[in-house]
Parts: sequence; structure tokens; C-alpha cells
Amino acid sequence: MQFTPEHEGIRRNVQKFIDAEINPHVDEWEEAGMFPAHELFKKMGELGYLGINKPVHYGGMGLDYSYELVFLETLGHIRCGGVPMAIGVQTDMATPALARFGSEELALEFLVPSIKGDYVACLGVSEVGAGSDVASIKTAARRDGGDYVINGGKMWTTSGTQADWMCLLANTSAGPVHRNKSLICLPMNAKGVHVARKLDKMGMRSSDTAQVFFEDVRVPQRYRIGKEGEGFTYQMLQFQEERLYAAAAGLIAKERMIEDTIAYTGQRRAFGRSILDNQVVHFRLAELKTEVEMLRALTYRAAELMVQGEDVTMLASMAKLKSGRLSREISDACLQYWGGMGFMNETAISRAYRDTRLGSIGGGADEIMLSIICKHMGILPGKRNK
Ligand SMILES: Cc1cc2nc3c(=O)[nH]c(=O)nc-3n(C[C@H](O)[C@H](O)[C@H](O)COP(=O)(O)OP(=O)(O)OC[C@H]3O[C@@H](n4cnc5c(N)ncnc54)[C@H](O)[C@@H]3O)c2cc1C
Repeated sequence: MQFTPEHEGIRRNVQKFIDAEINPHVDEWEEAGMFPAHELFKKMGELGYLGINKPVHYGGMGLDYSYELVFLETLGHIRCGGVPMAIGVQTDMATPALARFGSEELALEFLVPSIKGDYVACLGVSEVGAGSDVASIKTAARRDGGDYVINGGKMWTTSGTQADWMCLLANTSAGPVHRNKSLICLPMNAKGVHVARKLDKMGMRSSDTAQVFFEDVRVPQRYRIGKEGEGFTYQMLQFQEERLYAAAAGLIAKERMIEDTIAYTGQRRAFGRSILDNQVVHFRLAELKTEVEMLRALTYRAAELMVQGEDVTMLASMAKLKSGRLSREISDACLQYWGGMGFMNETAISRAYRDTRLGSIGGGADEIMLSIICKHMGILPGKRNK
């Protein structure tokens, strides 16, 4: 991946923004179990950060994905996982399908204010009874005149208590499960949308996560993104950006765990020398740093091919899988070297340990990534190359 002075400009400016507008507040937001998404996104929208690779016509910068990659990687400087995750939902999880397949009218109504930072977006795919198995969702949008009437519910919705609209995946017919779904822009203030509760989580504490119910919610059919019945396919495409987000935004966060551990173990002494001076410790940290560089190379390669318009499903799944697993390995190894202080909520490594655990679960668990990779290798039973 070749970076230009423009890429480096984004990197520098986003880091400055994080240092001034985000990191000073992270501890307070983690404590509160929520960050002020509207306030923060408005500031980010004014600087263009919520639409780097979105069309200029809709208020975006119109740049290619390599610039978004740099933005996402720089989000790793935020000293928690919850805030970058919610930013990622806004830019790379809830809006790509709308930008790609939505009508002009729909984009003007939902995408433009999301890029400006006036609207907070959320993504409604997972349900109480369907997370990994997306095709088995039960939420239904039934046609009634020119409207859809929506019933059902969504679970673990990031930013769900603050969002203005949801990119909702719902069954719009009774046909085969991969052809009966549609993505719909659902205003969260529509009658019958109930945000039932804010969920209490072990990590990602500054991000609010909601359970939401829909009771005879009526929206016009023109709120559907693209064609009816194509929602599953659109969502699978949208997942590619979500998975690359996970890989890119985790790189610097992983390196920070290693750096923080070097700083702590370098000054902490036992048996007449620093903890860091034990070969088992500094060798392990060097090994982990090497792994991060390998993941960076894979992530950049996937991004580069994406810019060239290639299908990166397999590489994005590999990067997401490796990112989740490596986070667990680094956070566990590093926390160990912090000893008792690693177990204290006040330390950065303890927060990182809690936050990064989601990486192997959210946005498709490790096993789902492995299934996708197997499918592309032609070794998944039922889809096996004969
Ligand atoms: C903090 C947080 C934020 C989230 N934000 C959102 C959001 O904004 N929008 C949204 O739609 N969803 C969101 N999710 C949901 C998330 O994407 C799902 O939790 C995830 O996809 C896993 O689904 P599940 O929890 O139903 O796990 P299940 O499907 O119940 O699976 C449980 C476990 O079983 C294993 N497993 C599953 N299938 C297989 C298989 N085929 N082979 C082998 N093992 C398997 C995996 O280890 C998996 O972790 C969020 C979740 C969390 C915790």
C-alpha cells in the first residue's frame, strides 16, 4: 500500500482530533457507560471524517478506501474500544449499503445527515435468536399499501439508545432465506420502536448497546435500500467493510498494549532487575509485535485489492479472524506481565483485555470467519470441491 502526503495528512489530523476531543474524556465516558455520540459525531462530521470514502454528491470526500483505511487505523489511538466501535458503525457498518445501493431520495434523507454528523446510525442485524446464523432472523416487514409494517426485535445494537435511524435487516417475504430479506432505513423515533434496555457489558463500556423491539412499526416502502429480496446479499457485502474495520482499527490498539506493557515492566522490579529484562518477557513482546506487523500487511493487502474493486471476502475474513485471536493473545500475555496491577480496573491493560475480547465474537465470530475461509478454499462440507 502506497501512502501519499494526503494519507499522512489524514493520519496526522485525525490523531490531533483524538488527542484534543476524545482521549481527555474517555475515562469519564467509560464510567458513564455511554459517550455523547451526537456531540462527537457533529465535530467529526464538520471535519469530513464521517464520509471519507462516501460520494462527494452526498457530502463525503469521495476518496478511495485507502484513505478510509488510514482513518480507521488512526482510530486505534483512542484509549478504549467503545468509541472507535461506534464510529465504525457510523462509517463502515450501517452506511456502506445505503451509499452503494440506496436511492438518491433515501441517501439525501439518511446518508447526508449521517455524514454531516447530524444523525447517529445503528445496525440492526442480530436478534435474540439469531446472531451467527444471520439468515434465520425473524423480524418481518410486511407490505401494507405503500408501507412496510415491521414486527420483531434486534439485540446487541451498538449506539441503539442514541441512534436516529437503524439500517435494519428484515424478512420482506416468506421465500428462501437468502432471497427474502431487505435492508430498510428505520427512523428510531417511529411509532412502535421500543428501546427496551441498555445492556450491561463486561467491556466496550463507553459504547451503549441496546435491545430494541418493533411493534407494528410503519415505514414507507421507499425507505428500503435497493431491491426487495437483496438484503442478505447487501448485508454480506456490508460485512466486508465491518470486518476490515475490525482489523484496521485494532492495529494501533494492539501495539499500545505492547508499548504500555514495556513501560510498566521496564520500571517494575523483581529479583534485582526489571520484569522486562527477563528474556521470556522481552522475547514474547517482540514476538507479539511481529504478529501485529503481519496482520498489518494482510489488512493493507485486503484494502489495496478492495480499492482495485476485487472481492476481498476471504482476505477480510482472514484479517478479522487474526485480529480477534491476536487481540486475545496480546491482551492475555501483556496482562500477565502487569501482575496484580493488570487485574485492577484502573489500568489500561485491564480495559484493553475486556474491550478486545469482543473481537472474536462481534461482527461474525471466529468460527464464522473460518467457515467463510473454508468455503473459499472449497473445503466446507456441502460446498466441498469434488
Ligand atoms: C458489544 C456488542 C456489540 C454488538 N453490536 C452489534 C450491532 O451493532 N449490530 C448487530 O446486528 N449485532 C451486534 N452485535 C452482535 C454480534 O454481531 C453477535 O453477538 C455475533 O454475531 C455472534 O452472534 P451470537 O451472539 O448470537 O452467537 P451465537 O450465534 O449464539 O454463537 C455462539 C458461539 O457459538 C459458536 N458458533 C456459532 N456458529 C458456529 C458454527 N457454525 N461452528 C462452530 N461454532 C459456532 C461461536 O463461537 C459463537 O461465538 C454486537 C454484540 C456485542 C456483544
